[in-house]
Amino acid sequence: MSTLEKPFKIEDLLQRNIWDVDEEPHIEIPLDDQEGLKKKALALLCPAGCYTLIGDRLIFSYEGCVECGLCRIITPSDKIRWTYPRSGKGVTYRYT
Ligand code: SF4
Repeated sequence: MSTLEKPFKIEDLLQRNIWDVDEEPHIEIPLDDQEGLKKKALALLCPAGCYTLIGDRLIFSYEGCVECGLCRIITPSDKIRWTYPRSGKGVTYRYT
């Protein structure tokens, strides 16, 4: 079996990346008022697992974010503040 045919997990690929976590969150979402948030979708679709659903309550941590922008797209704009981390911070992708 060649390398291209080898099955892989997204978690394995993500572990190759390097993060220089910005102490200033680049994504803010109002966790005290979760009305209107697509909680289940956020928890299921965020590739980095930044959103966790505990019962009906959504928990968020930005530290492992891979800056894909999915949560920005599926969340009403008045419910999320989304920016890239400050220069030099955030994820650095490694492709090898
Ligand atoms: S930008 Fe992507 S990786 Fe980052 S928190 Fe949103 S969905 Fe997750």
